[in-house]
Amino acid sequence: MQTSSASAIAAVEAVLEATEKVARAGSDLNRAMTLIVEAATELTAAEGATLGLVDGDELVTHAAHGSAAAAVGAREKIGAESRDAARAGLIYVGDGERRSLIRLPVPHRGRLGGMLVAMSSKPDAFSDRDVRTLQLLTPLLGAAMASAAESRSRSSFISVVSHELRNPLASIRGLASLMRDKPDSVSPEEQRRFSDAIVRQADRMAKLVEDLQAVVRMESGDFSYARMQYDVDQVVRDVVTETQAVYPTRRISLHIDTRLPTVIGDPDRVRQVIANLLENACRYSDEESPITLDAKTKVDRVDIAITDHGIGIPEEFFAHLFDRFARVPKPGYENVKGTGLGLFISKNIVEAQGGHITVTSKPGAGSTFTVSLPWATET
Ligand code: ADP
Repeated sequence: MQTSSASAIAAVEAVLEATEKVARAGSDLNRAMTLIVEAATELTAAEGATLGLVDGDELVTHAAHGSAAAAVGAREKIGAESRDAARAGLIYVGDGERRSLIRLPVPHRGRLGGMLVAMSSKPDAFSDRDVRTLQLLTPLLGAAMASAAESRSRSSFISVVSHELRNPLASIRGLASLMRDKPDSVSPEEQRRFSDAIVRQADRMAKLVEDLQAVVRMESGDFSYARMQYDVDQVVRDVVTETQAVYPTRRISLHIDTRLPTVIGDPDRVRQVIANLLENACRYSDEESPITLDAKTKVDRVDIAITDHGIGIPEEFFAHLFDRFARVPKPGYENVKGTGLGLFISKNIVEAQGGHITVTSKPGAGSTFTVSLPWATET
């Protein structure tokens, strides 16, 4: 008994040591994977181990150790049953006549992200403890994948932000230099147009900087909200009028239940959310397609739904759509500029008012974003 608990403690310590090593690999996914396959081989009866990542409908081996070392780069089709088994978290322990195999699915963002496989050339090589040890190692891959994805999205965010700041800056600089260096070649009419363009570009930069500041404050819990009883009906009408002024050619129809209840919270912030959603509806749909805003009274809340018939969003992006820096591939709409901050800010604002925001969407058919705000129960 004593020896068995001592060896269990030793096994846990070994896994902890492997965990620390993987944590030190940070966002270096390849290094993390190499450490995991090494640990899988060293801490169990395995003679070799591989780690594969899902790429479309294939599993690609990215790290391999021991007897399996040559497997790096191997590709294997993932059948529907493997996906189902993996989703259910099933571990396959195969004891063939000549060899033993353990396959452990590694979930990532709610789906199959990869597979840890340990093998031995001997039959019945693995004990229950080996399976448990490998089970303790798989979350390390999930964590390393998340850390690598975070680092990727951070650097893509930085490049998006610098691009978004550089572009307006370049046109402000170009137009202002032209007016300064060749004032005689610029007609009064052009001067007016150039000045308008400069103001527009400066506004774009100011908006981005404002969004970035909001994100930083939200993350540090420093974003302040007013708290008052207000008329949501008026907020919605104002936003539609303002958006219509910016997009005069768009058909935006408004359906508001008569006598919407009042809501408690920050009307200016809610105005910002509805404006952002309505603007997205205009930006991510064709000029001639209609947009609707429905405000409905429900038992305990008001639902404000903004529907467009635009490009839509594939379901696989729903889970992370409201994350900071979230970006979705937009075939045909690559020119629509954005930073992926609007929905993150909107979600934070709505949740701070006790509400929530949801999306339903279909690629090619359009999207509906619904903001639900609880009724005012105080007076
Ligand atoms: P931005 O539009 O500045 O990129 P958002 O946070 O507002 O940032 O939106 C994040 C992403 O969600 C967008 O880049 C776009 O891909 C997608 N998206 C948002 N609203 C819609 C919509 N109505 N239709 C299609 N895609 C949308």
